[in-house]
Amino acid sequence: MTDVIPTDNWTLVIHGGAGAMTRATKSPEREQAARAALARALDAGGRILSVGGSAVDAVQAAVQALEDDPHFNAGRGSVFTHDGQIELDAAIMDGNGRRAGAVAAVTRSRNPIAAARAVMDHSPHVLLSGPGADAFAAANEVQQTDPTYFHTPHRWAQLEKARELGDGHFDADVKFGTVGAVARDAAGHVAAATSTGGLTGKRWGRIGDSPLIGAGTYADDRAGAVSATGSGEFYIREGVAHEICARVRLLREGVQAAADFVQAETRELGGVGGVIIVGADGTPAWSFNTPGMYRAVLRSGQDPVVAIFGDEPSDVVVGQHT
Ligand code: ASP
Repeated sequence: MTDVIPTDNWTLVIHGGAGAMTRATKSPEREQAARAALARALDAGGRILSVGGSAVDAVQAAVQALEDDPHFNAGRGSVFTHDGQIELDAAIMDGNGRRAGAVAAVTRSRNPIAAARAVMDHSPHVLLSGPGADAFAAANEVQQTDPTYFHTPHRWAQLEKARELGDGHFDADVKFGTVGAVARDAAGHVAAATSTGGLTGKRWGRIGDSPLIGAGTYADDRAGAVSATGSGEFYIREGVAHEICARVRLLREGVQAAADFVQAETRELGGVGGVIIVGADGTPAWSFNTPGMYRAVLRSGQDPVVAIFGDEPSDVVVGQHT
């Protein structure tokens, strides 16, 4: 008997950050470019899932497409540190066996999510940082680049503005541009991936929630997979991604209810941002407490949905703007 891989129940959800995106503040050109980039990332992951590929390969491909696009705060187009450098964080987790890999403060790995994947697949560790992480990635065939590859003029302008505001102050129109993906493949496994440049003007080696397993990224086949974006310190303190999965697994909450609950608790601490989730059965959801969130979903046999603003579209099975 030949093994037939069922390809008829898979889901991919992606995000490109949450924040103060409104129709009034977003130029039509940038809006179209962001929508197109999200659609390309969905396509990159969807191609893998539609032929029976794994959730972990799909989330890596989707995040890599967003890292390569300068509109998002990940890979090329990342934000600058206080010292005018770019330090990148990323994590990936396979819900099948809860394997995980992450990197923090890498400066040369062209696709930080590929470096995180190398940590997961080829090291006994979960999180590597700084020059050592880049060296490990290079030794494992992750492409290295001159750090200026990541630079863009609009992020430099944001740094200048942040320096005027001073440490730890967010602009009222802050837009978190971290990228992430979660997927459930046709074999029933889930995975999550997140990649970011962190916060504009960060200093002292600050690391956010994105590369921390359980905070900004988590996947567990018994519950689902989560990727977060937002004010990372609060997402770390809440343990957002693990907390959502724990509620689904232990309380048997639906993914939307669990995400909304944990988002509300994080908001009480002072956290702003959003999450995307996929349940073990493939149910997609998102939850955010900002005016907008770059987000998109693709399910087997259905049309893709791409959205930015808080009030669109809600004819999807998913979507909670709290
Ligand atoms: N969560 C990220 C961090 O705190 C920032 C973001 O979502 O853009 O590093």
